[in-house]
Amino acid sequence: MSVGSSYFPERGNEGYWAEHYELTLDYRVGANRLRASAVISAFATGSLDGFTLDLADALRVTRVTVDGVPARFTHRDDKLRVAPARPLQEGTLFVVEVGYGGSPRPLPSRWGGLGWEQLTDGVIVASQPTGAPSWFPCNDRPADKSTYRMSITTGSAYTVAANGRLTSSRRAASTTTWVYEQAEPMATYLATVQIGRYQVAEIPGPVPQHLLYPLRLASRARADFARQGQMIDLFTDLFGPYPFPSYTAVVVDDDLEIPVEAQGLSIFGRNHLNGRRGEERLVAHELAHQWFGNSLTVGCWRDIWLHEGFAAYAEWLWSESSGGESADTLATRWHRKLSTLPQDFLLSDPGPRRLFDDRVYKRGALTLHALRRTLGDEPFFTLLREWTTTYQHSTTTTPHFVNLATRHSPAPLTPLFTAWLHTERLPPLSGGMS
Ligand SMILES: [Zn+2]
Repeated sequence: MSVGSSYFPERGNEGYWAEHYELTLDYRVGANRLRASAVISAFATGSLDGFTLDLADALRVTRVTVDGVPARFTHRDDKLRVAPARPLQEGTLFVVEVGYGGSPRPLPSRWGGLGWEQLTDGVIVASQPTGAPSWFPCNDRPADKSTYRMSITTGSAYTVAANGRLTSSRRAASTTTWVYEQAEPMATYLATVQIGRYQVAEIPGPVPQHLLYPLRLASRARADFARQGQMIDLFTDLFGPYPFPSYTAVVVDDDLEIPVEAQGLSIFGRNHLNGRRGEERLVAHELAHQWFGNSLTVGCWRDIWLHEGFAAYAEWLWSESSGGESADTLATRWHRKLSTLPQDFLLSDPGPRRLFDDRVYKRGALTLHALRRTLGDEPFFTLLREWTTTYQHSTTTTPHFVNLATRHSPAPLTPLFTAWLHTERLPPLSGGMS
């Protein structure tokens, strides 16, 4: 079994950790042509005669160097195999540079195409969970979080958004080069580039927020994201400080099945807007992923409830605090609904097929609600803030959370967690109460 994940054994690579990615992308929108280089700084965890990177076969590799010296390579089955001229010593840093290009396209998955995707007039990159190799060579495992610098050159008619801070945008003739730096470590699946003919608006609030949208959707977009600043205030109160320097929401001029989170950025489809905040719960959900998923990232996909259960619960917390239904009402209703659906998975290990199953999301939220009822509001939210502080910008597991929660409870929590996480049958909502 690969180090990547027991859910996606074909992904992730052994023998090293990536530390920093420097991606230089030159992209032509209409033609969908990419010319790129990736400079990856990595740390060898063993002595290496060779190593592999994840990269889609759709892209053609033109050259590979290791520490500046040309290296032999082969590229097939979405793996780039590199043999450096000299073996790498355990415990050393090395730099691999890959020149590549072609027409990037989404990688197939059971959830449809993932990764770099051409839109009607632009690009969306939504990689969760395994789409990152569709556009750059990487160690595609969520536990390997790295810093990034991305330089993207494309036609000046387009606005480009990516993760992190925009450090420069330089226009030369008909193209503009946008440079983004992501200083906080980021999992590969959260790396993104968004290209489109977008307007940019600022949303008032406690952290800088940008809203990108096609001109014709301006009034809808502004209305539907109007309360995002208040959401950040609420979540900061409940979950602790917003973990990144800024937040960007992008509305693409295409329909999307679901919105997607990236680090410091979320992407919505035009179908998620109606101008009357009709899908506001999704705005709250994606925002909450900045804490749960992006700052605190699972090392293995089996722990997905630590992302989706928390983001789903954040929807209920926003509803409760903004004059909508209380979390208790929503929990009761969803508990009733889940009790009529098949109870055929463990929340602690739902299996790759159910990674994005709504039952995983809702049962995760219910688990948190049951925990909140057991602990009481003050200890519960203190626990959430300690959770986000302790594991900020790092990798998390279900036992990490269970251990921390246990420290906030005078009574044993084993019955509660066994019933909700490690048993298929849905427990009563009051189950495990002290
Ligand atoms: Zn989500």
